[in-house]
Amino acid sequence: MKVLIADDDKLSRLLVKDIVTSMGYEALEAADGERAWQVLQEHSPRLVVLDWIMPQMDGTELCKRIRSSDDENYRYIILLTGRNSKEDIIAGLNAGADDYITKPFIPQEFEMRLKVGKRILELQQSLQEALEKQRYMAQHDALTGILNRGEIIKVLEKELNRAERQNDKLSLIMGDLDHFKQINDTYGHMAGDTVLAETAQRMKNTLRTYDSVGRYGGEEFLLVLPGCAIEEAQLIARRLLNVIKSQPVLFNNNNIPVTISLGLASNDTADHAGIKGIVQAADFAMYQAKQNGRNRYEVAGY
Ligand code: GH3
Ligand code: MG
Ligand code: MG
Repeated sequence: MKVLIADDDKLSRLLVKDIVTSMGYEALEAADGERAWQVLQEHSPRLVVLDWIMPQMDGTELCKRIRSSDDENYRYIILLTGRNSKEDIIAGLNAGADDYITKPFIPQEFEMRLKVGKRILELQQSLQEALEKQRYMAQHDALTGILNRGEIIKVLEKELNRAERQNDKLSLIMGDLDHFKQINDTYGHMAGDTVLAETAQRMKNTLRTYDSVGRYGGEEFLLVLPGCAIEEAQLIARRLLNVIKSQPVLFNNNNIPVTISLGLASNDTADHAGIKGIVQAADFAMYQAKQNGRNRYEVAGY
């Protein structure tokens, strides 16, 4: 853990540095407020010990600056002060400090306060990680790992709006696995699950990085292709058909043949206007692909 020690008094800085390094932390030093701000930008220490009075920018000012910068990593700030009047302490905490310690201090007390800071930072870190995990789970489908229905619709909404604003093209592909019920009935539900996960991965790997794929329903997928005219979407559709059909999915020594039917729609046809319109158009084209023999794609409006 990196600890920034900002203090214009060299002796005081050395004293704090000794404590910090004896605890196994890495000490970063700054002799004034401006330098401290630079060190914060360059090395991003999470624990910060600030002297109250420093040239150029004092501790409270720096405190305020740290708090008002939109930094996603929380900094735990301990204000170091020679004063101990209640007003000063209130002003320091009000500026955004988490804790304060008055000079002269005994090393043990300082050590304990640093440990409290570290504990708070660890707690904050694990909360942030839990939140990120939760956010990921709320956006992704547990079986296939691709975006879930709500999220792929959100992506479509966003990309459709962007395309409209920038007068850009966007294509949509609705995919539905062929005779998937038969796969479940023949090889079992677990095999069906494996086919779904494998198919999703193959589609994801086929797409460009700015494309998105989501699980729209049971064995239905929605692919959003920004900046993609219908001609290019047809190329992608051919690639998708091939990547799914060319290699059977292996499950418990069974080679399971899989194919998919695709429906394509694009925003440059007037009657597909709006999110509902374009999804319906792709869906309708997909049903045409089913009717016309499966393992193929059809384009809406043709
Ligand atoms: P079609 O070619 O006309 O699309 O026929 P299909 O059999 O694929 O279509 P149908 O809608 O009759 O069946 C879809 C099946 O998908 C039925 C359902 O049990 C299965 N299914 C949906 N979600 C899951 C899942 O998460 N895992 C498994 N194993 N099966 C699923
Ligand atoms: Mg199906
Ligand atoms: Mg279906």
